[in-house]
Amino acid sequence: MRPVILNPLFTPLTTLSGVGARLGALYHKLLAPVERDALVLDLLFHLPATMVDRRLRSTLADAEPDVLTTFKLRVLSHRPAPQGRRNMPHKVICEDETGDIELVFFKSAAARIESSLPVGEIRYVSGSFTLYDGHRQMVHPDRIMDEEAFARAPLIEPVYPQTYGLTSRMIARTVQAALSRLPDLPEWNDPALMARAKYPSFSDCLRQMHNPQRPEDITGITAARMRLAYDELLASQLALLLVRAQMKKAAGIARTASGALEARLLAALPYQLTQDQQTAVKEIKTDLETPERMLRLLQGDVGAGKTVVAMMAMAHVIEAGFQAALMTPTEILARQHFETLKPLADSIGITVQLLTGRDKGASRKALLADLAAGRIDVLVGTHALFQDDVVFARLGLAIIDEQHRFGVHQRLALSRKGEAVDVLVMTATPIPRTLVLTYFGDMDVSVLRQKPPGRQKIDTRAISLDRLAEVTEAVARALASDRQVYWICPLVSENDELDLTAVEERFADLATRFGAQVGLLHGQLKPALKDEAMQQFASGQTRLLVATSVIEVGVDVPNASVMVIEHAERFGLSQLHQLRGRIGRGSAQSTCLLLHKRGGGETAKARIDIMRQSEDGFLIAEEDLKLRGEGDVLGTRQSGMPGFKFALPEKHGELLATARDDAKLILIKDPALETPRGQALRHLLYLFERDAAIKLLRAG
Ligand code: ADP
Ligand code: MG
Repeated sequence: MRPVILNPLFTPLTTLSGVGARLGALYHKLLAPVERDALVLDLLFHLPATMVDRRLRSTLADAEPDVLTTFKLRVLSHRPAPQGRRNMPHKVICEDETGDIELVFFKSAAARIESSLPVGEIRYVSGSFTLYDGHRQMVHPDRIMDEEAFARAPLIEPVYPQTYGLTSRMIARTVQAALSRLPDLPEWNDPALMARAKYPSFSDCLRQMHNPQRPEDITGITAARMRLAYDELLASQLALLLVRAQMKKAAGIARTASGALEARLLAALPYQLTQDQQTAVKEIKTDLETPERMLRLLQGDVGAGKTVVAMMAMAHVIEAGFQAALMTPTEILARQHFETLKPLADSIGITVQLLTGRDKGASRKALLADLAAGRIDVLVGTHALFQDDVVFARLGLAIIDEQHRFGVHQRLALSRKGEAVDVLVMTATPIPRTLVLTYFGDMDVSVLRQKPPGRQKIDTRAISLDRLAEVTEAVARALASDRQVYWICPLVSENDELDLTAVEERFADLATRFGAQVGLLHGQLKPALKDEAMQQFASGQTRLLVATSVIEVGVDVPNASVMVIEHAERFGLSQLHQLRGRIGRGSAQSTCLLLHKRGGGETAKARIDIMRQSEDGFLIAEEDLKLRGEGDVLGTRQSGMPGFKFALPEKHGELLATARDDAKLILIKDPALETPRGQALRHLLYLFERDAAIKLLRAG
């Protein structure tokens, strides 16, 4: 049970005075909590992005672009959006004695803008401007005040990330109401650390962050800011270690086998294992044979050959008398794994079956009966494997592919389907070391860094989008010489209507040119249609597949040797790398064309250069991390995996190491979190939503 002292923070925001249903909905949009109401705590964790520092005054001529400044302006004229053109901005022209500036408002009521900026009057306007064709433009000023309000206003005011309909000032007011609910919590951090780092209490940290006194309080590395990051990292490390402790505690089963089945599998393969594959297989076998549970992450770049390593592990547990499950995030992947495994499995006498959400009725029943009776050795499937009626006779090994789309909860759920199930997690996202610790601190790691021999380098080129016609001709030549082509369009989110239209339009264009050999695949298609599109491409029925990044993970069509990626600048490097890994799988020379919009900054260039020069996923991931941050590397922004609010794992490496050590020490001294400090730490786990780990304490 959650400690009662936390209740005021875990009540819905709508319990704050002034926040009714309408504002509640806006706050929900702003704070975007996953599958629950927006809470008081969510708002307290919504930190100001910047601040208005009214001491920073300037004339227009002297001011720098992109610096938050307060200007004293005279309003000259209004140019409202034309009737019925809601997407056009409302512009207001203002001046001071040194120059002029255009204030720009999107989707805002003209009447409101006109009353806050009456023509001929003086207003104090705070915000930062950009230069657009040599003219100053300020989009949505942070603050507009008349003389009187300006005289009364505090010199420093936090500015919150806002959403349409909620201004920073409304948010600031609600935050103050939320702060008044903040209880003083028992301290969970080590007193020595508190003294050394000069950390304020948790509550004081939040108060300070929301009531900045100097610009550094928001933009700088203050003790308050660091502590919040530290607390978050400590919570996550503690949770990971608790999961690990729990999994290890349920004593494992020594799954011993003579190795005969593995030998048969090796003999059936048309190639030899690489050194890295052999090492990984050996590490896994050792785990399986010791009476401790395996919790291992198998990391390997796209095409590194993880599947066969997984099969060796399966062969081992099957010979030892157990079943194995292989879980994938999508149906397409499940099917593909099934189809790769099936012929090999048949040849060595293993039974493999596929279970997806689409299996229903009698055939599903029969399959489940076979599974429960132990007549199936390996079950491949999606989330469908979690369902209650899926019962294994003797599940010994759970393999989870593309882990980062599943969380700790799922790891636990699948491993509960048997006794002391060994868990192998496979990920094709080469994850930098720091992030492995952040997200997979509960696991041992095996890495496939080498690729199987004989891979050709993918010829990667950057081409400006305005040369689309040439690209289409290159595609025509590739199709004429019997190659298959992926054409990838960006989709920021699968719900983005604009992007979706772009994909459909591209499909229509290419279909006009190339006819029925063009296929379309995106996330909003029904699962059956998605599979069909992929199936048709895999079988060669379609030869040009226009797709969004739904094909990113794992899908294998060896004859596809050309990939066009539109708006490459909108993808993360790791994602580009994953996509590109879909080609270069067969013997033909492969080509990847990165189409980007003309211009683009230095970062965009640097990114494309990295892609052209390297095919080392680990290197690319490290670079990605430097350039964009962890959310993109792990794809968490899309997948909704609990990310970090305060900590930046790529920047806070040292804090992470300290948190890791601290968490270890805590659990050695107080494994059930029962001492006063342990009790305080339970608060911490709740605050950062790592409380699933607390339930483990009770279960264990
Ligand atoms: P991934 O790590 O992306 O899952 P796969 O397991 O799908 O990679 O392997 C990619 C391809 O490489 C497959 O076609 C597989 O048969 C082949 N392969 C795997 N290991 C080797 C090897 N040691 N030598 C040659 N080819 C291999
Ligand atoms: Mg794979």
